[in-house]
Amino acid sequence: MDIKLEFLMGADAIVSSLSVKAGDQVKAGDELLQYEASKGILPILAPADGIVEEVLVDQGDRIVLNDVLVRMDTDTVCKEEEAGNRSTPVKKCREEKTDLLIIGAGPGGYEAAIYAAQNGLKVILAEAKTVGGTCLNEGCIPTKALNKGARTYQDILKAAKMGIEVPHPQINMPRLIEWKDEVKETLVSGILGLLKNHSVKLLTGTARFLSGNEVIVEQEEGQVHVSAANIIIATGSKSAGLRIPGVQLPQVMDSREALSLKKLPSSITIIGGGVIGMEFAFIYHSLGVSVQVIEYLEGILPMVDKDIPGRLGFIAERKGILIQTGARVSRIENGLNQEAVVIYEKDGKEAFAVSEKVLMAVGRVPDYETLNIEAANIETRRDRRGIQVDGHMQTNRPGIYAIGDVNNILQLAHAASHQGMAAVRHILKMDGGEKQDIVPNVIFTMPEIASVGKTEMDCQKDGISYEVYKFPFSGNGKALIMGDTDGFVKLVKDRVTDEIIGGSIIGPDASTLINSITELVQFHIRQRDASEVIFPHPTTGEAISESILGLGVGALHSVNKKEEHIIHAVD
Ligand code: FAD
Repeated sequence: MDIKLEFLMGADAIVSSLSVKAGDQVKAGDELLQYEASKGILPILAPADGIVEEVLVDQGDRIVLNDVLVRMDTDTVCKEEEAGNRSTPVKKCREEKTDLLIIGAGPGGYEAAIYAAQNGLKVILAEAKTVGGTCLNEGCIPTKALNKGARTYQDILKAAKMGIEVPHPQINMPRLIEWKDEVKETLVSGILGLLKNHSVKLLTGTARFLSGNEVIVEQEEGQVHVSAANIIIATGSKSAGLRIPGVQLPQVMDSREALSLKKLPSSITIIGGGVIGMEFAFIYHSLGVSVQVIEYLEGILPMVDKDIPGRLGFIAERKGILIQTGARVSRIENGLNQEAVVIYEKDGKEAFAVSEKVLMAVGRVPDYETLNIEAANIETRRDRRGIQVDGHMQTNRPGIYAIGDVNNILQLAHAASHQGMAAVRHILKMDGGEKQDIVPNVIFTMPEIASVGKTEMDCQKDGISYEVYKFPFSGNGKALIMGDTDGFVKLVKDRVTDEIIGGSIIGPDASTLINSITELVQFHIRQRDASEVIFPHPTTGEAISESILGLGVGALHSVNKKEEHIIHAVD
């Protein structure tokens, strides 16, 4: 609401004093400022309860009739509870002051809260829904729980090969969903306990900025007005959708809805061959659903080493997952029997996929919609996809940080957590935490994919003289025992420094094995030093050891040395 100079005798007046500043909470009738006109000194009063958003004049300013003097937010009313008048629902208001306010309790926010509290800061954590955020409630954890269920079912189906016979195994989908929720709830209550143990104050409600250091948290029971010396924004991301006809049809769902589907469809079309789309493709296929993936780009998983999408695509198609790449979905229609018909263009021709359900998995966009970042003048990235930050995760406003999916540097839970710790270290003026370039990335397909550091493509782009070696899991004893010999470990070495600078894995245990390669890359370990590390037998880790040897004298258990060892020299 604009508060104007609505009464004036004479041509103009002078602002003689200001009684409020931006962020102040005022009641109807409170004085906002005084001005001196020909009639003497007069006050401008607040017309309603509210919060001062902006004071547009200074003491000594000359003002004329209809000038806007103050801007007020009269929706955000912080009223005292009226004693004795129970029939009028009035919101309670509370004031809080803290060293650090964190908005969003996903892996970025809640871990930053614990870390800051461990380091002596007074912390308030505001969360609109449930602690754990997307990762724990709608992402990493529930998908991996379903992945485990799907793998177990496949293991049972294959067990007869080793003499273990389970007649008529069946999937009880409601129970699988319930078990997934139990896992999730155990973790949620664990986080609540950790926050309590570290004296982090949790406010359940939606937060929005009033100014650079003030935030309102809208709770069911009332509003909390928080003043904070530092603020970390950790509000994450939300599913992106395609703006095409038919997305509102009941057969179409996003990843959050897919995680609670209690009746397995007979068939599904997945729009999007990125990480989320491909993870779901393998889960559904393993549970016996007929799966088709439609991807707009020329290949699936464009972010990983060039050898991996091809191998995964081959494995997927061998299992019966259909993948259409270079295909642009234009609309979704209802079929005659209530099935969904996904219509797409490929090679200049129109084609369609018919299925019981459609999963929209076309990526996620940073979520700062509810935050009112304009009130704090926080800048977004040029493409408007994420909040702009520096190496300390600080925004253009000193003391305000943005971590995790909301800054859109990397949409990974562990990246969010590390960025949160980097922000806290900066607040506390501690060293370190700025270096965040070695971030491992895992894709939980079947087989799993994992990568860290530079790929061959990166080396070519950066003009690095490199060598790669690829050791196949078919030469690894443990992989054979596991019945999982598809895939390889591929390492990249800098030919000048002899350091291992990157690695990619597709195959069994990839999600765990990548930790060893991350350490080699992070600590600049040279090939000749890495070759002295002893990997226990029989483990899938031996495939890493073989790859390290492959970059030196040669792998011990490989027959096809030439094909697996590539040297790319740059003069
Ligand atoms: P989030 O986890 O999104 O948390 C943000 C929180 O902020 C939410 O709880 C939200 O309610 C809250 N919030 C938003 N606005 C407000 C507000 N105004 N006031 C108060 N609270 C607010 N990553 C991995 O590393 N590994 C995986 O295996 C993996 N699997 C995934 C599978 C799926 C299906 C999806 C969707 C994602 C997956 N991710 C995975 C990505 C991972 O979930 C995110 O990178 C991670 O959750 C980002 O953490 P964050 O803390 O930035 O935000």
